[in-house]
Amino acid sequence: MRESEHGREHGGREQRAAVPLHAARDIILSSIRPLGTERIGLGAALGRVLAEDIKAERSIPPLDNSAMDGYAVRSEDVQRVPARLTIVETLPAGVLSTHKLGPGEAARILTGAAIPDGADAVVMQEHTETEPGAVTILKTAARGDHIRRVGSDVRPDTPIGWLGNVLRPAQLGMFAAVGRTQIRVSLRPRVAILATGDELVEPDRPVDGGRIVTSNSYGLYAALQEAGADPVYLGIARDEPRAIADAFREALRCDAVVSTGGVSVGDRDWIKQVLGELGGELKLWRVLMKPGAPLAFVMLNERPVFGLPGNPVSTLVTFEQFVRPALLRMTRQRAIFRPVERAVLAEDYRKAADRLHFVRVRLAERDGRRIAFSTGDQGSGILLSMVRAEGLAIVPLETTYLPAGSEVTVQMLQRTDLRDVPGF
Ligand code: AMP
Ligand code: MG
Repeated sequence: MRESEHGREHGGREQRAAVPLHAARDIILSSIRPLGTERIGLGAALGRVLAEDIKAERSIPPLDNSAMDGYAVRSEDVQRVPARLTIVETLPAGVLSTHKLGPGEAARILTGAAIPDGADAVVMQEHTETEPGAVTILKTAARGDHIRRVGSDVRPDTPIGWLGNVLRPAQLGMFAAVGRTQIRVSLRPRVAILATGDELVEPDRPVDGGRIVTSNSYGLYAALQEAGADPVYLGIARDEPRAIADAFREALRCDAVVSTGGVSVGDRDWIKQVLGELGGELKLWRVLMKPGAPLAFVMLNERPVFGLPGNPVSTLVTFEQFVRPALLRMTRQRAIFRPVERAVLAEDYRKAADRLHFVRVRLAERDGRRIAFSTGDQGSGILLSMVRAEGLAIVPLETTYLPAGSEVTVQMLQRTDLRDVPGF
């Protein structure tokens, strides 16, 4: 942290004006660099992010083949039906014909088998009658009927994978189909989690004497996993600069660091000061949003360090707005923001024109309209309304009043399966 920005008093509270959400995102994302890459097999590739463009190197299907169980014929032989043809061979899938089909001849053919030379159509079994050695075709066929042409799916040089794709089953199947069993993907970010606070204990400890459980450690652990990162949990650091500094030094083994708590303006909010003393550069402190205002973003040893607020909902909402997009960007993904939907508010919403609000909502269809219902108390420590939420309705910074029925944008987090539970 440069001297001018780095306060001498605890928490350095005089520096850095609070910034709007979009400015904060820009500051963070412009500091993010892509991680390295590795080559992996297809079996380990689901959900990984492709770090190369991939083109097919062969045709799929590799040969003209039958789309049906039936008979391969010369279409000119079946322009007048019924037409009786001699069966000259049987072609299950995987068996190549040894015979060129002549006039009056047919080949028994099964789905996926290569079309024999001379044949130019397949007649479905349902439109035939068979007897030993011969078949009677009951329906006319045109050239090309029920034949899957070579390369009708992909040809050599057809693009089948793009740098930044999140790999899904169909794409992995396609890579296998063209013989690509090893692919280059972005490394998964290793992300350190550090909880800070004298009051914190692990969930299996007693909670007497004013202690609270470090629920953020577990919420963040899961949020990181969901974002495709490998969390490295460093436990709880006491509100004491040396303990926090030791933990951050250890955290620098990772690609990024997420801490919670200790980043506000309290006497024991040491995070910014400690990061400054370790040589970090404070890029951002405080965002004009609710929940989640006190957020510090520091670059330390070329690693992004996110000092998230301690209130559990603020922690998760700031994770969603800043950490998740940054991690996705590190792995080269293109769509780094959650999808949004439009909905209308079920109730009036009032606020001051000083911050953007994220309102925890669930969505329901009523009379053809999508309605956003608040999931309850919107306090930044009320985790239950986050548990119940499907998304975050965005109320812009300048807005002071949205009457019921106003259209809002909802950032979608999940589809909950809690609808039928009483009270949810
Ligand atoms: P702080 O920003 O450190 O003042 O924390 C704000 C609030 O969040 C306080 O009520 C803390 O007890 C609470 N808090 C801080 N860290 C955690 C955590 N890891 N898990 C749950 N709550 C926390
Ligand atoms: Mg604290």
